[in-house]
Amino acid sequence: MSDCIFCSIVAGEIPSSTLYEDEHVLAFLDITQVTKGHSLVVPKKHSRNLLEMDEQASSALFAKIPAIAQQLKEKLGASGVNLLSNMEASAGQTVFHTHVHLLPRFDDQDGLHISFDAKEPDFPALAQLADQLRMETV
Ligand code: 5GP
Ligand code: ZN
Repeated sequence: MSDCIFCSIVAGEIPSSTLYEDEHVLAFLDITQVTKGHSLVVPKKHSRNLLEMDEQASSALFAKIPAIAQQLKEKLGASGVNLLSNMEASAGQTVFHTHVHLLPRFDDQDGLHISFDAKEPDFPALAQLADQLRMETV
């Protein structure tokens, strides 16, 4: 049994409500069901979070996300879907095996409130920050 709960789920050592599986990814229901159909999509190969994944590994994971989200939405009759991936504890990560949350949405009836505290745009500050952060390569 692995120390990592999602590695144990991938290995079939812990039961999960599997929705989809292939060579690279596993999708299963999150036990807490923040909204109906709340699912997790994980790479089968362990990594801590997206911050340590390379292009090849993350491509294999994200290649399947649209189709999984589309099918969740259709099968549940949902009106939308949120995608979330917490990276490190300060961002709310509690399980340190990369995972993407898919949260089906049901108009105003699902009790989930995600809101950004919007501030007035400061264009000189934005330009300065972009200068600091501009990337030659990724
Ligand atoms: P995080 O907070 O790291 O972004 O999300 C971890 C998620 O894993 C949580 O939403 C939690 O409900 C889910 N989770 C934790 N343990 C298990 C488990 O044993 N089985 C399933 N299906 N989900 C789990
Ligand atoms: Zn793991």
